[in-house]
Amino acid sequence: MSKGHAKHQERHHGLSQFGKDLVRRCGSKCELCEDHGVKLVVYEVPPIEAEPDYDHCIMICETCEGQLDRPKTIDATYWRFLANSMWSSVTPVKVISVAMLQHLAKQEAWAGELLEQVYMDEEERAWSEEVELF
Ligand SMILES: [Zn+2]
Repeated sequence: MSKGHAKHQERHHGLSQFGKDLVRRCGSKCELCEDHGVKLVVYEVPPIEAEPDYDHCIMICETCEGQLDRPKTIDATYWRFLANSMWSSVTPVKVISVAMLQHLAKQEAWAGELLEQVYMDEEERAWSEEVELF
């Protein structure tokens, strides 16, 4: 077993510790697009700390995760739900939504308009500036 693999396993274990809390919080819905009845995965909102951190984790569907993982596959129209998720009371959901809007706003006028409406406190704003998605 390679070192990298062992590390991944360790991290996975760390994440599964609070998996139940995440499932409760998300109510079996993707915390971004609110799709339900689909497989959900844990996504860590960057910057990723050495230790898995519950407050950086969100439960999202594989479609959202797939596009976050592979920016070339991003379909801007798909991400219209950011208009709702940017108001989430769950900080990492809000932060990733704003970071994604900032990315989309380079091409999409609607994303820029949403960014003008969003309210973030200082901590949220500082975090969103640290998220380098792509
Ligand atoms: Zn989703």
